[in-house]
Amino acid sequence: MDYLPLPVVQMPFKDECGICGRVFSYSYLKRCQRCKRLFCRDCMVPDVSTGDPTKMLCLNCARRTVSPRSVGKYDPLRRYLMFRAAFTNAVELHFAKIDGIISDNLPMSAFRNEKWWNNSSSSCHAKSWLDAGWRMHEVNLLEGYVVFQKVKSVRTKGYRKKRSRKKAKKPFTPAPYRFPRSRKISKTKAAKLYARLKNLERKRAAMPKYRGSFKPKSAQEKRMYNPEEKPK
Ligand SMILES: [Zn+2]
Ligand SMILES: [Zn+2]
Repeated sequence: MDYLPLPVVQMPFKDECGICGRVFSYSYLKRCQRCKRLFCRDCMVPDVSTGDPTKMLCLNCARRTVSPRSVGKYDPLRRYLMFRAAFTNAVELHFAKIDGIISDNLPMSAFRNEKWWNNSSSSCHAKSWLDAGWRMHEVNLLEGYVVFQKVKSVRTKGYRKKRSRKKAKKPFTPAPYRFPRSRKISKTKAAKLYARLKNLERKRAAMPKYRGSFKPKSAQEKRMYNPEEKPK
């Protein structure tokens, strides 16, 4: 009997982790409960609010549940591009790098839909790079990167503001020097102190002196130990 050759099915059994970018087999990857993307087990934690290990969250989503954001999601990207503007006119960013910059995950549409990357000022994510003076030049969904190009340099206002805020408005005036008053201790106070010292001296003299390290047991310890009683 002839053996029929088994059909070899080429299945993509590996995928990339959404945070660290390493490629693993599906057995080592899990889907985040919140953003529904695949991550390796090193980049996931059990649901932070319930601790349920069957419900895993990616580190980005876990951070988001622990400390919700107070500024815009894409604000860090705007700041990053403003910073890069000082050195370069074009920046190629991998999607994972943007995830890192905004410390969150890009939405699924950023991975699937090129239109998400359009330079339209009506979308808050595009506003982040437009406000920074950059434009999306090229996006490659297959390889997962985007190229931004600088169109104008935007002054980083924050830096100047910080400096002017630091400047003191009034000239510095040192606090007036106060001469210490020479005070005389009252006679009653002196007498009381003297009496206290004398009392201490007397007490010390009245204490019996023991040789070496011997110390008598305290009254409380003596009460606890009864020589008549057998030890339990
Ligand atoms: Zn990973
Ligand atoms: Zn997630």
